[in-house]
Amino acid sequence: MSVDADGFDWSGGHPALDLVNTLDERPFDQPIETLVSYRDLIRFVELAGLVEPPTAAELAKLSGPKCSNTLARTRGLREQLHDVLLAMHSKCPVRPSDLEAISAAIQVAHASRKLVAATSQYVASHTWSDLLAPEIPLHACAIAVENLLVAIDHMKVRKCGASDCDVYFVDTSKGQHRQWCSMKGCGNREKQRRRRPQTVG
Ligand SMILES: [Zn+2]
Repeated sequence: MSVDADGFDWSGGHPALDLVNTLDERPFDQPIETLVSYRDLIRFVELAGLVEPPTAAELAKLSGPKCSNTLARTRGLREQLHDVLLAMHSKCPVRPSDLEAISAAIQVAHASRKLVAATSQYVASHTWSDLLAPEIPLHACAIAVENLLVAIDHMKVRKCGASDCDVYFVDTSKGQHRQWCSMKGCGNREKQRRRRPQTVG
C-alpha cells in the first residue's frame, strides 16, 4: 500500500477503488481503518473529487447520529464492493446479496440529486437536492461505485500482485501489465524479495 501525505491511498485510479483501499492492510489480522470519523469521510470524498469543496466545507460542520450512520453505511458499501471485487478476482460468482445492497444504495443516491441549468456545453448538470444532507458522501460514493461496475472494463480492474497487499487498481498502462499498486512500495519490495537467495534447510 502506498499512502499519500493526506493519509489515503490514491493508487486505485478510480474513486470507487480508492474507497475500497481506504481500509489499509486488509490481509492482516488488524486492518487499518482510514475512515475513522465522518470528517475523514468528508475529506476523502472531497479529495477524491466526488463532492465539491464548498459542499464538503458545509458538511464538515455537521455532527450527530445521521453522520455516524452515514459513515457506517459508507463503510458497509465499501465492504460490499470489496466482496464483489474479491469474487471477480477469485473467479467466483458475485453474491447477489452484495449486488442488491449496492444497487439499493445507488437508487437512493440517484433519488437525492436533481438537475439544474448549466453554463457549460451541457444543458443541465446534477446537484444534490439538499446540499446539507449528511448522507451526501455516501450517495457520492454509491454513484462512483455504479460507474466502476457498469462503465469500467472489469478485465482492467486488478489486485496488487504483492502477497501482502490487497489494494485494487484500474490498469490503464499501455501494455496492460501493471502488477503493483505502486512501483515505489510493493513493486520494489517484491523485486527485492524475489532477488533474495532462498534459505535451504
Ligand atoms: Zn500493493
